[in-house]
Amino acid sequence: MEITFLGTGVAIPQKGRVQSGVLVELEEKPLLIDCGSGVLNRILETGVPHTKIDTVLLSHLHLDHVADLLCLIKANWLQGKTDMRIYGPEGTDDWFTGLLGLYEYIEEEVDVKVLEYASGDEFVPEGFDCEISCAAAAHSVPTLAYRVTSGEGDFVYSGDTEPCRDVLDLAAGADLLIHECSFPTGMKVTNHTTPATLAEMLEEYRDEIGSLCLTHFYPEMRGHEKETVYRLKGYSDGEVILAEDLMGLEL
Ligand SMILES: [Zn+2]
Ligand SMILES: [Zn+2]
Repeated sequence: MEITFLGTGVAIPQKGRVQSGVLVELEEKPLLIDCGSGVLNRILETGVPHTKIDTVLLSHLHLDHVADLLCLIKANWLQGKTDMRIYGPEGTDDWFTGLLGLYEYIEEEVDVKVLEYASGDEFVPEGFDCEISCAAAAHSVPTLAYRVTSGEGDFVYSGDTEPCRDVLDLAAGADLLIHECSFPTGMKVTNHTTPATLAEMLEEYRDEIGSLCLTHFYPEMRGHEKETVYRLKGYSDGEVILAEDLMGLEL
């Protein structure tokens, strides 16, 4: 399984970091997780044709996680690929139906299936040889963390969240936890994570999680990279990695 970070940034523009997106290749079949602004161009940079992407998992509907989804659907349609499956939390169907309804000329041409899931649900995305389990993240809107389990390995993607038990329980035993880390230690934040708040929660999960990879960085994180890795070292079994756009990990 190959994991490529397409976007490791947030709603505020930053040099070198576009908004959220992770491309997972399972037996060469691509699964996209989140699709914020800038992700469509990053897909091009990976060399994976965007027309191969017909399955998208959305953690939640904040713009920095969904802004390029309709752009991807339009680009696919213009290249003759019209089917797409979107998996997301409650509200995804209403949101997408409303959005697509504003663009009748696209709506008439594409065949998009939207499936909503809730915490505790498990499903197999159509055409994939993997299982996906969902847990509720702690964010300001309904947000799902996903665990992707395949013969090649398993990882959890936290989505936007405060460190919370539901997400870490989902990650226990996984090879990799991709967790958001929006702000540096010392900042008072809700709905998001700092290295200190994550470390505190990880106390109870020492060595239960493989490697830890952090993403979803606000500009305030710049300059705090070393202390972040230092703060979180020792909580997971493997490395602590700070994601960069177009960085790849293999499971
Ligand atoms: Zn969010
Ligand atoms: Zn976000």
